[in-house]
Amino acid sequence: MLVLVINSGSSSLKYQVRDVEAGSVLTEGLIEEIGMGNGGEGDGEIIGPRDHAAALELVDAAIHRELGDLTLAAVGHRVVHGGERFSEPVLIDNEVTRAIERLNPLAPLHNPANVLGIRAISRKWPDMPQVAVFDTAFHRTLPEHAWRYAVPDDLYTNHGIRRYGFHGTSHEYVTHRAASVLGLPLEEFDGVIAHLGNGASVTAIQGGRSVDTSMGFTPLEGLVMGTRSGDLDPSILVFLGRAGWSMEDIDSLLNRQSGLRALAGNNDMRSVVEAAESRDARAAMALAVTSYRLAKYIGAYHVAVGGAQAVVFTAGIGENSHQFRELVAERLGALGVELDAGLNSQRSREPRVISSAASAIPVLVVPTDEERAIAEATAAVVTAASIAPPT
Ligand code: AMP
Repeated sequence: MLVLVINSGSSSLKYQVRDVEAGSVLTEGLIEEIGMGNGGEGDGEIIGPRDHAAALELVDAAIHRELGDLTLAAVGHRVVHGGERFSEPVLIDNEVTRAIERLNPLAPLHNPANVLGIRAISRKWPDMPQVAVFDTAFHRTLPEHAWRYAVPDDLYTNHGIRRYGFHGTSHEYVTHRAASVLGLPLEEFDGVIAHLGNGASVTAIQGGRSVDTSMGFTPLEGLVMGTRSGDLDPSILVFLGRAGWSMEDIDSLLNRQSGLRALAGNNDMRSVVEAAESRDARAAMALAVTSYRLAKYIGAYHVAVGGAQAVVFTAGIGENSHQFRELVAERLGALGVELDAGLNSQRSREPRVISSAASAIPVLVVPTDEERAIAEATAAVVTAASIAPPT
């Protein structure tokens, strides 16, 4: 089954055509600067298409140029916010699209762009089955004591203010693979998954389900990230507001000017690690703050799950930076965690154990693949829908 996976941002559209059974990528690409150009060509370059519909025409042309004639079975969309309604991938119809749109206030940068992508496909291929795969869905199993903030109930009931959590597609995919590396049935797997990319979050897994996660109402809470602060005292916002900062200034400060960028002057972990190795004191401090924050969460989630059977690293930093993994593991001595230096520094695309035989808890690296997970979920939903008896 061939599935087109779409990750639609406000000014970009990332796509992959996947063969679900073979687990392979047939072609992929990225259209950028949507809405910023005039839709033409200049200096030999394609300038940003007018809108998402025009971007989709470029995707269609690129797919046919690369792969010739082919029949797509379905389109799978990464949708950032599924609110409280969506706890699993769903077949998209008009009502689902409107429900995603109603969640716009919770994800003002992302959900409107996802809807633009969905509508562009509906207009171009009206009969194409489309599936929405939500970044929040895996965290719908959080117990109330983990998702509630200690604020008046009105904020939750009337404004939907609670912990939702994100990166769910990745956390779920990695959870399945980690359980299988350990030879455990999913329902018996308790562990801590650290998804460390430009955005970063850590999830507590109990019985194969998410029971707590570090991102909250938005993807700002929790770990120190490339340009996001993660946790801080909310009174700092009040203090800045009183000092004359606008909401936009504060939003930009915490989402775009903070994290590694603020601490080390660079939001790219590779550069920060290199700088620290050349004795750059700011870079070393940035690594200390970032690894300490993650180690604190791992300790907390070890307790939350009643004793983790594994700590799992994934995404850009988690999969590639043996130096960062080492810094985190050094802080986990109290849990009896011990890495094998040789295994930790080996590079591989395969899921693997990097702890020593003496480690009280195995430490794993499990490469994530959100597009693969979205393609598989899309195929499963479409297959189930087509064999379901009419109601
Ligand atoms: P992602 O968002 O999952 O693509 O991850 C992006 C992050 O991974 C960036 O901070 C990169 O610097 C980081 N990254 C990728 N490769 C490496 C590497 N070899 N060493 C350290 N960080 C890396």
